[in-house]
Amino acid sequence: MEAGPVSGAVVGRFAPSPSGRLHLGNLACSLLAWLSAKSQGGRIVLRIEDLDAERCPRIYADLLEQDLAWLGLVWDEGGSTGGPHGPYYQSECADIYTGQYKKLEAQGLVYPCFCSRAQLHAASAPHTSDGNVIYPGTCRDLTAAQIAEKRKKKAPAYRVRVPDEEITFLDGCMGPHTENLLRDCGDFYLRRADGVFAYQLAVVVDDARMGVTEVVRGSDLLSSTARQLYLYRLLGLQAPTFAHCPLLLAPDGRRLSKRDGDQSLENLREKYTAQEIVGKLAYAYGLQPEPAPCTPESLISGFSWAKVPKQDVCLPEGLF
Ligand code: GLU
Repeated sequence: MEAGPVSGAVVGRFAPSPSGRLHLGNLACSLLAWLSAKSQGGRIVLRIEDLDAERCPRIYADLLEQDLAWLGLVWDEGGSTGGPHGPYYQSECADIYTGQYKKLEAQGLVYPCFCSRAQLHAASAPHTSDGNVIYPGTCRDLTAAQIAEKRKKKAPAYRVRVPDEEITFLDGCMGPHTENLLRDCGDFYLRRADGVFAYQLAVVVDDARMGVTEVVRGSDLLSSTARQLYLYRLLGLQAPTFAHCPLLLAPDGRRLSKRDGDQSLENLREKYTAQEIVGKLAYAYGLQPEPAPCTPESLISGFSWAKVPKQDVCLPEGLF
């Protein structure tokens, strides 16, 4: 794999999963990622996280590009624009992930897991802060004979062993964060039983090979970061910095989702201009005092993470 942080230069990225039309929360994250990179004179890459090709048909990726461009969030490389670090679609990267996965296998850290979802989600199972089950290590020490026996009935997924060790990092928005992978997460998936690589592996491999120096994304992924830092270390790759932005909530406190039709860009584009949407989002995130229409460019000089709230942002009633 050709890796390559460009020395000194900031490289940010948007890494959306095109499983539906973008909603306001995705847009807010994209805007913050773009502003953070641009306010440091950096570049921004668009990577399409369509690992699960069935859930993420190309039509959504194309619409997503059109929506971002309509808003004025122009990227320097990636998506259908291409560039020197392609492929930019995760659905085209299986060979690259395989190469890195083999390095982890060669370290003796990967093992097959036969646990079903139902077993893992048993009522008593403790959960991570992002809603996953803390893996209790059920398949960690199976013998070769046990594995061979289980394989006859079921194709396994694959997990990586984690150490009983604190991993600490300074988040650019949320401040210091520490996780103990064994206690807070457990051995995690690298590959599903159908062969699709897991987000945690793909995101690390791609950010490294695209020379990304700064990851900005929603705070729902804050707890993934320790897992990713662990993979950077195992693979000998240079880790970027991280800034996790607060999520955008509907006025009633609900989390926005791609199913929230009224907050999808498809509908918003009929009601508002691009500058109105950018201005309202900038206002909700503390980047301007009024929800006045503005372009992304006009926000660059005043951007600072210190202005961005640390708590989830509830959309003011009537703003959209
Ligand atoms: N593809 C992920 C999402 O849309 C984001 C991954 C990341 O930014 O690391 O939720």
